[in-house]
Amino acid sequence: MKKVLSFLMILFLSVCSALWVGGGSICAEAATKNYIIVIDPGHGGTGDRNLGAQYNGFSEKELTMRVASAMKTELEKYENVTVYLTRTTDTIVSLEDRAKFAKSINADFVFSIHFNASSEHNFYGSEVWTSAFGNYYQKGQTFGLIESDELAALGLYQKGVKTKIGSSGNDYYGIIRQCVTRGIPCDIIEHCYLDHAYDVQYLKDADFINRLGVADATAVAKYFKLKSSVNGNNFTNYTYKSVKKPANKVWHDSTDPDTCQIKVLAFDSGSRNALVEMTTKDSQSPIIYFSYSYDGGVTFSTLQMWDRTKNTQSFNINIPAGVTSSRIVCRAYNNYELFKQSNEVAIETR
Ligand SMILES: [Zn+2]
Repeated sequence: MKKVLSFLMILFLSVCSALWVGGGSICAEAATKNYIIVIDPGHGGTGDRNLGAQYNGFSEKELTMRVASAMKTELEKYENVTVYLTRTTDTIVSLEDRAKFAKSINADFVFSIHFNASSEHNFYGSEVWTSAFGNYYQKGQTFGLIESDELAALGLYQKGVKTKIGSSGNDYYGIIRQCVTRGIPCDIIEHCYLDHAYDVQYLKDADFINRLGVADATAVAKYFKLKSSVNGNNFTNYTYKSVKKPANKVWHDSTDPDTCQIKVLAFDSGSRNALVEMTTKDSQSPIIYFSYSYDGGVTFSTLQMWDRTKNTQSFNINIPAGVTSSRIVCRAYNNYELFKQSNEVAIETR
């Protein structure tokens, strides 16, 4: 009883002294949570698996470190946040050790920084991977949508915020799985592709890497509603669409788009443009790219951006001089990179 009383007395005194010293603001600040943020620069060290993607003179393990450092510098401008990196040198750190470190400091969120590449070098844009499960999905998807908006503002095409489940039925990506196992939400940010000209044009600007880090930090600041007297941002009242906690695991889309149909509306022999109308739909995920062929599907164009708010769009296909008959066929890709090929339409293009 005596102990309880003296505890209450100390509590009373400390609350009062806080009020006397600085008024209400000290009490309010004492109640504000300090967030522990872990930034994970992907890859690191030597040996093929540790380098990450290597294209066009860019090394993923180096870019992830540069973005992570820029992100840390920017995020540390905010109040009520402590920021850690999982590695600060070019060394191998296992995914398990990265998650263990985050757990050891009681992290609120792990952001794993990456750059992308695809086997056929045809994709471009940003994508965010998150856990498929419960609270982790809810938090990861909510953050991912904010992050995606920040990256879009830099000009990068957005492939979306996605889940992927492995054969074990758990999250496919190791860093997400290792963090979630330890009770920590984790998103992987694949900023852009090192093997596609559309994204490389941005990366060639040395300051762009820095801007990626600032964009990442700004997304974190918005998500945790932070404010900074250093950069003047105040996201205390920032509102975002909170994602519902799913009752079941959120499966990835493993099927092609439902439909892809084309019509050739006209061929202009002057400009040699064929005006094509395409209708496509995928009930599970958005259509994000399309491509076209005028040789019956032997060769296809580079991937074009598809306006994902529409099911039907029309576009011109330029037929080179000398091609006298064309067999037009198109493909629609969903944001899991699965495509549906359209019907074929033969036209005279002499
Ligand atoms: Zn990577």
